[in-house]
Amino acid sequence: MTMNYSKHLGRQSLRGLSKAGDILIPGDDTLPAFSRTPYLTEIDRIADWMTPQDREGFKFLTGLFSVLPSPVVRGLIKLADRAESLPEWIAPPFRMINVGVKGVVYSLYYTDLTASHTVRRELRWSTRCGPLAPPPESEESARIEEAFRNARSASRVLRKIPLAERLRFLEPLQEVIQKNQNRILDAIQRETGKSRSDAYMSEIFGVLDHLAFLQKKAGKILGDRTAPSGLALLGKKSQVWFEPLGTVLCISPWNYPFYQAIVPMTSALVCGNAVVYKPSELTPLKGLVEDLLREANIPEDWVQIVYGDGRTGSKLIDQKPEKIFFIGSSRTGQKILEQASKYLIPVELELGGKDPAIVFDDANLDRAAAGVLWGAVTNTGQSCTSVERVYVQEGAFEAFKKCIIHQALRIVQKVDDDGSSDIGIMTSDAQVKIIAEHLDDALKKGARLLTGENWDRQSRVIPPLVLENVTHSMKIMKEETFGPVLPLMVFKTENEVIELANDSDYGLSASVWSQDLARAERIARGIVTGNVSINNVMLTEGNHALPFGGAKKSGFGRYKGEFGFYAFSNIKSVIIDANSKKIEANWYPYTAAKYRLFDQMTRGLFTRGIKGLLLFIFNGLSLESLSQKKRGEP
Ligand code: NAD
Repeated sequence: MTMNYSKHLGRQSLRGLSKAGDILIPGDDTLPAFSRTPYLTEIDRIADWMTPQDREGFKFLTGLFSVLPSPVVRGLIKLADRAESLPEWIAPPFRMINVGVKGVVYSLYYTDLTASHTVRRELRWSTRCGPLAPPPESEESARIEEAFRNARSASRVLRKIPLAERLRFLEPLQEVIQKNQNRILDAIQRETGKSRSDAYMSEIFGVLDHLAFLQKKAGKILGDRTAPSGLALLGKKSQVWFEPLGTVLCISPWNYPFYQAIVPMTSALVCGNAVVYKPSELTPLKGLVEDLLREANIPEDWVQIVYGDGRTGSKLIDQKPEKIFFIGSSRTGQKILEQASKYLIPVELELGGKDPAIVFDDANLDRAAAGVLWGAVTNTGQSCTSVERVYVQEGAFEAFKKCIIHQALRIVQKVDDDGSSDIGIMTSDAQVKIIAEHLDDALKKGARLLTGENWDRQSRVIPPLVLENVTHSMKIMKEETFGPVLPLMVFKTENEVIELANDSDYGLSASVWSQDLARAERIARGIVTGNVSINNVMLTEGNHALPFGGAKKSGFGRYKGEFGFYAFSNIKSVIIDANSKKIEANWYPYTAAKYRLFDQMTRGLFTRGIKGLLLFIFNGLSLESLSQKKRGEP
C-alpha cells in the first residue's frame, strides 16, 4: 500500500483499494503493480467528485476488501464482470465494484490527474520491476573485450590530441543536453522515481555547471606548469606536465544516474583518457548517454558504455584499465580495492556517508530547519551527502524540533512532471527494506517517531521520518540509511558534539549552523570529514571549483575542481637541462676532496644570510671545477 492518509477514506479503505488494485494490475516485467506506484495519493481528487452516497458505498466496499482474503476479493471482482446478468436484488454492489473500484484503480493508474486535462500517463516503471536482465555470458564477455579494444585504440588517438582541441570536442555537449533536457529528465524520473525538481537541479543544472567549469578552467589547470629549481639546480628548468593515464573505468551508482555518468566521464576525457563506463543496473538510462554523445559529435570510441551488474563490473576490472574511478557503497568499494590490488590498478573511491548536521542555539532556527530538512530529504534522502544525523544544542532543541516537524509535514511527495513536487519516491525496494530495518531498530531501542508514523515499511512513498530520543547504539545513527530520515539528538558543549560527529565510520560531509562563525569554524575543523558547509548544507558539491571526496570509510581521492583533474592524470615531473659537456658534481667519481666541498656547500646552502651565500658560492664553484676534471681516458 502506498498511502496512509486521505481526507475522504480511512486507512482500511485505502488498504482495500490497494489490494483490489494489485489484483487488477499485478504488474509484469515492464509495468509495476498498482501498489508500487505513488498514484494512490491522488485518490482524494477522484473522491472529491463523488456524490456523498457513492463515496459511502465506495468506502464500505474497499473497507470490506481490506478484511477479506485476497482470493475472495479476486472472486468478487470476477463476479462483477457479470453484474448485468446477476439478479437485480444482488447486482448493485457488483456494479459499484465495476464502476467504482475498477474505475478508480484504472483512472489512478493510467490517467494523469495532476494535469488540467486528462491524458494517458507515461508509465515510468521499467526498472522498478527489477534490474536490467544480464545478457548471456559469452555475449557479455565479447562486449567487454570489444569495449576495451576500442577504448585502448581511442586512448592512443586521444593522447595525441592537444587539450584545447579535446575541450572543443566537448563544447557542443552543453547545448545538446539543454536541447534534450526533457527527454533526459523523463528518463531519470522513469528509472529513479525522483521529483522533477530534484532531477533538474542536481542532474541537469549540476552537469551543465560542471561542463562550464571544464571549459573555463581545464585549460589553465592542465597546462604545463613551472616549478622552482632552487640554487642547487641553478640553470635547469623544472616542469610539471599533466598527461593522460590511458583507459579509465568509471563505475557509478543508481542515485544520480545522469550526473554520475557525465561528470566522471567528461573529467576523464578532458584529461585525455578513453573511458569505459558502467552505470548501475538499477538505473542504466540505456542508450541515452550514447545518443547525446553522438549528437554532440564526440567520437564514438572515446566512451564505451557497458551495461550490467556487479559481476560485469568485476569482469571490467579484469581487463586491467589504467585507473578505476568508483562511486558507490563502502561495501563494494572494498571489493573493488581488493580486486584492483591484484593488478596494482590505482583506484579512486567515492563511497557512502552518515553526515551530521550540527545546530547551535544561536542559529537562525527557521533557516537551519529548512536547510537541514532539505539536506535530509532531497532526492528522497538518497544522496551520499544526505544529512542523516542531526545534533541540536540543548537550549534550541524544542524550538528546532517544532520547526522541523512543521516543515516536514508540508513536504509534497509524488513523481510529478511540472516541478511542483518536493520529493519523489524511493528508487529500490532493497533500500526501503534497509530504512524499515533502521527505523524499527531505533523504535525498539526507545526512539520516538514524530512524523511519518503511518508509513507501512513497504511502500516506496516514504515521507520524512523525524525521530527523537535516539542514541548511537541505534543503526539509524551509525549505518548509512539512505532515506528521508531526520534523527534528532541533543548536545550541550562543543567538545561533546565534535565527539558525537566523529563517532562514525564515515566522513563524507557535514554542516554546522551558528551565528558565531569562529565557533562554527572550530567545529568544522574538528570534524574528520571530506567536506563541510557552514550555515548551509550539501553546498560544497554545488561548487565545481571545489574538490569532492571523503575521509574514513567514505573513501579516498578527490574529484572535481582543480584537485579533481589529478585523479585522471599522470602527473609527470620533468627537468630540462642544457645539452652541455658538463659532468654533474653528484656523478662519479666520488673522492674525499669532493665530499669535503659538498659538505661545505651544503652548510652554506642551509645557513641563513650573506655568510651562508658566500660559503655556498665559493664551495659550489670549487666543486664544479673539481667535477669537470676527467677521471682518465677509457
Ligand atoms: P553499489 O556499491 O551497490 O553499486 C555501485 C556500482 O558498483 C554499481 O554500478 C554496481 O553494479 C557496481 N558493482 C557492484 N559490485 C561490484 C563489483 N564487485 N565490482 C565492480 N562493480 C561492482 O552502490 P549503489 O547501491 O548503486 O549506490 C549507493 C551507494 O553509493 C551509497 O552508499 C552512496 O552513499 C554511494 N554514493 C557515493 C557517492 C560519492 O560521491 N561519495 C555518490 C553517490 C552515491
